[in-house]
Amino acid sequence: MNYVALHRHAQVSLSRSAVAHNVAVIKNHAHAQQVMAVLKANAFSHGLPEMAMLSIQSGATRFGVAMLDEALALRDLGYQQPIDVLGLTDPQFVRIAAQRDITLAFSSLATIQQAAKVLADTSLHLKVSLPVDTGLNRIGFKERDQLVLAIQEAVVSKQLEFQSLWTHFATADTPNETYVDFQISEWQRLTQNLPAQPKEQHFANTGMATWYADKVDTDIVRLGVGLFGIDSSEPTMPMPFELEPVLELTAEVIFSKPIKAGEAVGYGADYRAKHDGWLLTIPVGHSDGYPFNADGMRVLIADGQVGHIAGGVAMDQTMIFVDKPVNIGVQVTLIGSVGAQSVTLPDLAQYSSVSIVALMNNFAPRLQRIIVP
Ligand SMILES: *Cc1c(COP(=O)(O)O)cnc(C)c1O
Repeated sequence: MNYVALHRHAQVSLSRSAVAHNVAVIKNHAHAQQVMAVLKANAFSHGLPEMAMLSIQSGATRFGVAMLDEALALRDLGYQQPIDVLGLTDPQFVRIAAQRDITLAFSSLATIQQAAKVLADTSLHLKVSLPVDTGLNRIGFKERDQLVLAIQEAVVSKQLEFQSLWTHFATADTPNETYVDFQISEWQRLTQNLPAQPKEQHFANTGMATWYADKVDTDIVRLGVGLFGIDSSEPTMPMPFELEPVLELTAEVIFSKPIKAGEAVGYGADYRAKHDGWLLTIPVGHSDGYPFNADGMRVLIADGQVGHIAGGVAMDQTMIFVDKPVNIGVQVTLIGSVGAQSVTLPDLAQYSSVSIVALMNNFAPRLQRIIVP
């Protein structure tokens, strides 16, 4: 069951101005007409309802998601903007997609034919997108003749609308420009002289819009990781502009006591206090998405002290060593900034040896989300 912990002092804050900034700088840099906010996996775990609202308020005009259920969740929230399901959907589910005006992707002639069959004799219309596999080798058409047949099927069927052609790049957030160029040449080879043109085409995720925007049509940017203010290339590519991190993770001190040099802290009793100080307990742990192996990582206390994680992070609670006493109720920032100090999500990912993307996708639904200016 899904629940939100409203009765504890731990939360994710999402910055409205950071989302607005990120959408604006990327849109501007790539000369994009439209931003598709890619909100798969509960908006990269940041929270779907909150990020959907902030994205639209920031000028995104449409949504991309990984699966039909995520699209339905957005419709249930009341959004009427176009929604692209970017993964594949079993054709047996096309009716509900058509009823709720959700664009589905198809990767084979057979599945398009099945979709047409399921919708035959109905008055429903389904928007169809056709991914072209130019080198990621995940989904999409890799053979031109199959693509041509699929387009013909989509055009002939009364119930299908040929909405879009698109592709996705494998090395957009790496310096491997050769492979980007290879994928572009594959696109040209596979899509020349097609029997019909789609209403739209899209190519650029965050990486393409950031580093290779001059190589592809960026009218529509499919904005995922950059929306959240995260540089997924770090540290391999120089950012041409600054993104602002959207998320902060904070908790309040719920217990505080002095600790003597040499005392053990936490499971395994491996951590020993190096000198006398204070030990704070906060009500957040690795089941909330904070990394398990962050022993020693710095955290920011609202009084200006920098503490560090003492011992292993437990499921729901974490201990912090500080030099000077801190009262119950004082805020501790695990990801975010306090004054001039900051702990970024990439800092924490690096410290605990997890990938940035894994860390940013791991915030638990039970964490309360609040929106801040
Ligand atoms: C996830 C995804 C995106 C968003 O990519 P980012 O690199 O996070 O911007 C765009 N397009 C497709 C097909 C995706 O799967």
